[in-house]
Amino acid sequence: MSKVETILSQLKDIAANPKKAMDDFKAETGKGAVGVMPIYAPEEMIHATGFLPMGLWGAQGKTVSKARTYLPAFACSIMQQIMELQCEGAYDDLSAVLFSVPCDTLKCLSQKWKGTSPVIVFTHPQNRGLEAANQFLVTEYELVKEQLEHYLDVKITNAALENSIAIYNENRAVMREFVKVAADYPQVIDAVSRHAVFKARQFMLKEKHTALVKELIEEVKAMPVQPWDGKKVVVTGILLEPNELLDIFNEFKLAIVDDDLAQESRQIRVDVIDGEEGPLYRMAKAWQKMYGCSVATDTKKGRGKMLINKVAQTNADAVIVAMMKFCDPEEWDYPVMYREFEEKGIKNLMIEVDQEVSSFEQVKTRLQSFVEML
Ligand code: SF4
Repeated sequence: MSKVETILSQLKDIAANPKKAMDDFKAETGKGAVGVMPIYAPEEMIHATGFLPMGLWGAQGKTVSKARTYLPAFACSIMQQIMELQCEGAYDDLSAVLFSVPCDTLKCLSQKWKGTSPVIVFTHPQNRGLEAANQFLVTEYELVKEQLEHYLDVKITNAALENSIAIYNENRAVMREFVKVAADYPQVIDAVSRHAVFKARQFMLKEKHTALVKELIEEVKAMPVQPWDGKKVVVTGILLEPNELLDIFNEFKLAIVDDDLAQESRQIRVDVIDGEEGPLYRMAKAWQKMYGCSVATDTKKGRGKMLINKVAQTNADAVIVAMMKFCDPEEWDYPVMYREFEEKGIKNLMIEVDQEVSSFEQVKTRLQSFVEML
């Protein structure tokens, strides 16, 4: 096995086995893990406690039954899965769960947590341009910090927080480079591998993830760039999984040359700035700098333009919108983006992502027709 294959296989294993990643971490450090609900959270604060931040992004193919008692059938697919997992006790080993509530579904879910782990809820202000909004978020983060310290029985010092911010900024920068490398080498980093590199970072300490991805980038860049005889696409949405769906991208030679997925590039888009203000203030500022995301209010609706720029920068053939089933914020953005794509002649396709389904024949037919049309 080549070095590249070894690293990818390691990251794929971690991405596919979050419970094992958490248990290994506990065995190694004696510390537990803190769940992080989608989409954004001041993860650096958890990292500074020495606990492992674990992203909670649902599951695939699980039949939703118990969750129906607590959520309407039209709640988004990912939260149906998370509720089902909660009811089954899947998150009860977590020392706490951090919960931001930027959409109505998350607001409801934060009040209905069925697991036994303590839940820490905070709000991202949506009138994001105001200094008062930033001050509000600093206050929210202070409360998050107090509760983390209480539940985990640790003290979060400013020095530890600054160290964690530096580790996260480095990881984000390395992942932005990885996105470019994956676009140049689709024969080496296919859609499944690309996703695994992103997903593994949800279940690893970021410094370990950074080290592996740096090594991967170095190895891949030492190879010659080969011409790509398939099509190139930019993908957008909440997430694009499971591997069975990404296998279809591979089968039809659709290289993902950039993404705007909440689970992937939105997580690495914005760094915490340097400055003289305290770490909580600067972390709150990162929320004000966030752009192109359906849950971060943008009255100018810049997401479509951002995606059109990504298409131009990467020489992509099209945009694929991965629409999370019943996700209101994403559905509200879509008509605006669609109109802009059509006006600019950007080819685009919307596919539905439903975490409950286990058959992908319909989406396969749609992707095949789309590739033929391209
Ligand atoms: S943003 Fe969309 S996918 Fe995420 S919790 Fe809200 S409705 Fe669900």
